[in-house]
Amino acid sequence: MRQPLSRELSNLLERGRDRQLRLAVTGLSQAGKTAFLTSLVNQLRHAGVEAQLDLLPAARDGRLLGAQRLNQPDLGVPRFPYDPGMAALRDTPPRWPEPTRGISELRLQLRYRPAQSGWFTPELAHLTLDLFDYPGEWLLDLPLLQHDFYSWCQAQTLLEGEQRRALFREWLAAVEALDPTAEADEAQLAHLAEAYAQGLRRAKQAGFSDLQPGRFLLPGELEGAPVLQFFPLPHLDTPKEMLDSLPDNTLYATLAARFRYYQQQVVKPFYRDHFKRFDRQIVLVDVLGALNAGPERFEDLSRALRQLMQSFDYGKRSLLSRLFAPKIDRLAIAATKADHVTPDQHGHVVQLLEALLAEPLKDLRFANVPVKALSLAAIRATEAREVLHDGKRSSALRGTTLEGEDVLVYPGDVPNRLPNADFWHHQGFDFPSFRPMTSSSEALSHIRMDAAIDWLIGDKLA
Ligand code: GDP
Repeated sequence: MRQPLSRELSNLLERGRDRQLRLAVTGLSQAGKTAFLTSLVNQLRHAGVEAQLDLLPAARDGRLLGAQRLNQPDLGVPRFPYDPGMAALRDTPPRWPEPTRGISELRLQLRYRPAQSGWFTPELAHLTLDLFDYPGEWLLDLPLLQHDFYSWCQAQTLLEGEQRRALFREWLAAVEALDPTAEADEAQLAHLAEAYAQGLRRAKQAGFSDLQPGRFLLPGELEGAPVLQFFPLPHLDTPKEMLDSLPDNTLYATLAARFRYYQQQVVKPFYRDHFKRFDRQIVLVDVLGALNAGPERFEDLSRALRQLMQSFDYGKRSLLSRLFAPKIDRLAIAATKADHVTPDQHGHVVQLLEALLAEPLKDLRFANVPVKALSLAAIRATEAREVLHDGKRSSALRGTTLEGEDVLVYPGDVPNRLPNADFWHHQGFDFPSFRPMTSSSEALSHIRMDAAIDWLIGDKLA
């Protein structure tokens, strides 16, 4: 008799401990974070009735009864704009939700019936789910913590690639002419810092991802603040010892001081106050978008992801573990917008994502962090169709472009490994942006959101 009772008791304690979960969503801008979080909240709210969540056992078995919004605990963090997002999707014609630009939060309370019943198992249980959304660009700043200003200048990738360099041409010419030992001119610094930030923004718009510092692109609450008035000096040829001994009012010393301030007052607080408190994380990647944008952008995305993923490298000696001791115990990496390709290509999308992240995934698995790669569409914008072409059946996608034109397309084959020069020359890949679909159901139509939800929180609903 004592044995089962103590097991029941430990189950109960276990459940008590697990009542709350902090789940974070990130990805570079345009990766699909806002769409994902809007869909996640929508699916959970309609889990008991209209949402199609067959890959989530708690929902499939009818045990997940739905979710309610609660007031969030962190009063200093903006609330995730779920209602405006849904309103946009329900508009005529439907629109994509306005993307979030900083960190935001939303608290849900999930009600479910535990799978096993017994003496001590309650009839109904609750899970408080705190959802966070923050720009992946902010994670590109982690590697910046291992630099001082001098080594950061040496490590600049700005000059890599012709198209990238062209976007910074004027700024580069102006910075090349600077004398680091001269007295700093505030007005000139402010002007050049803005030109640098503009270069980063242009590069972002042109589809580049490996851009630093992250807050220059998505400043959040730091918009216009002087802490963002610095930039690298990529052409330094004076020895470090000599630069380090320059008086405080010189150009080099001023930029170096602002760089240090940015590290201490911007980068570190994000990791300390937010990141280290997340329990689970999903990283969204627009692999198909990069494939659509060509080889230089694709290579750039790969570099940016390698940097971004360092924030999940929990090796004992990693910078992150040493500085912040984070506790994320489960990670998902998802290729978004899978509805941009025909269903027969979805397997390749995951393989391509795995290839793109091969190194970081290997490190994570070695560090024993459970990680899963998948492909999904948070909010489906196309329908798969079969068409007859030259007497042969093939698959195609039907959707409405952002301009309102109904189209039937075959976007191309997705390579199942990193594309080589041959792929870029011969095969190509092309798809338009689609409008979200109109739906009469309360629940948004998706692809494999249920698989993502199951991996991220399914074990807590057992
Ligand atoms: P964020 O910047 O990471 O928050 O990205 P958003 O969620 O704003 O998504 C950027 C854009 O990607 C949207 O405006 C849509 O055009 C597109 N998008 C996002 N999710 C999906 C999806 O599931 N399917 C399709 N077809 N497009 C999507």
